[in-house]
Amino acid sequence: RFEDVAMAPPDPILGVSEAFRACTNESKLNLGVGAYRTEDLQPYVLKVVKKAETLMLEKGENKEYLPIEGLVAFNKATAELLLGADNHAIQSQRVATVQGLSGTGSLRLAAAFINRYCPSAKVLISSPTWGNHKNIFNDAGVPWSEYRYYDPKTVGLDFEGMIADIKAAPSGSFILLHGCAHNPTGIDPTPEQWTKIADVLEEKGHTPFFDVAYQGFASGSLDEDAFSVRLFVERGFEVFVAQSYSKNLGLYSERIGAINVVCSSSDVANRVKSQLKRLARPMYSNPPVHGARIVANVVGDPNLFSEWKTEMEEMAGRIKNVRKRLYDNLSQKDKSGKDWSFILRQIGMFSYTGLNTSQSENMTNKWHVYMTKDGRISLAGLSLAKCDYLADAIIDSYHN
Ligand code: PMP
Repeated sequence: RFEDVAMAPPDPILGVSEAFRACTNESKLNLGVGAYRTEDLQPYVLKVVKKAETLMLEKGENKEYLPIEGLVAFNKATAELLLGADNHAIQSQRVATVQGLSGTGSLRLAAAFINRYCPSAKVLISSPTWGNHKNIFNDAGVPWSEYRYYDPKTVGLDFEGMIADIKAAPSGSFILLHGCAHNPTGIDPTPEQWTKIADVLEEKGHTPFFDVAYQGFASGSLDEDAFSVRLFVERGFEVFVAQSYSKNLGLYSERIGAINVVCSSSDVANRVKSQLKRLARPMYSNPPVHGARIVANVVGDPNLFSEWKTEMEEMAGRIKNVRKRLYDNLSQKDKSGKDWSFILRQIGMFSYTGLNTSQSENMTNKWHVYMTKDGRISLAGLSLAKCDYLADAIIDSYHN
């Protein structure tokens, strides 16, 4: 019966970690998956998460099922964190929030909603984008195409191309936007460019669909990283926003996130929420509680909340230091005169090096630096001590 099942290819991102584990070379570095490491390259559980878990144990909470929509305290906290507690959309109860299985599950739920309620609509995703976006929309049966985003000539944003492609999309399309710290490029629009993007979406009757996987983790400030989403909400758009707590609270394996739909009225929001629940029920019934309680406890307690912000600043700061050190090493060691300053202009946990597929393969095969084939490296998996070695590997791969 299963004789004809073909072998699936390894996942382009998670497959890198498998190859890394199998490598026995002492200099090996895993810069594939975007997971934060300490300066000793060890995984990190935030202190504030441990404190919240201790509190949760003390309270002796039970393991009853959550409602389909998730933990009510979490849903409230997550929408407020995203939009600001005093946001008009929240005050007027126009936001439908459903707890999701982290960023991926929340995106998938929204994709299922689009497939069911906007069957003729298409989603536009940036070229390039996080590899899983295409899988998510494919599996949900939502047609997608790409808009230009990255300009290899400048290692910057192709803003003209982006605007032209969004304008050319059929009216009523969904435009997938990375709220901050675009993955994989680390290149974000400026505030002025965001305003122009909003103008074009409005003109064309498109709906913004934000993927927010790095709030607070990119700049170190929760508010600054939510700028783009808040701008669109402020301007009166109906907006989809998928959130993830994998990176900013380090809750990768807890699978905690949410889908928020900002609607035109509280009545619409109620109906949208009811349909999101209806879609979730046959897929996974209801979400897990542990991560939701952690987030609700951290955000709900002023002391824990401020400790979280401090830890987030530390994580973001460590990545910024590594970025600077890598730039310094590359500039000092590379005698070709190449300008490496694009590395400093990128933000978030990744750097898009501009290395092509065969150069990226050289990084792995010769230097044991494990990374995705698109030239993306996770700076969160790098230490100051390893920057020198990495710079040698990059220079060798570029010029050979
Ligand atoms: N979107 C983007 C842009 C991401 O980078 C990630 C994580 N790498 C996610 C969504 C989802 O991650 P998770 O499912 O762990 O929340």
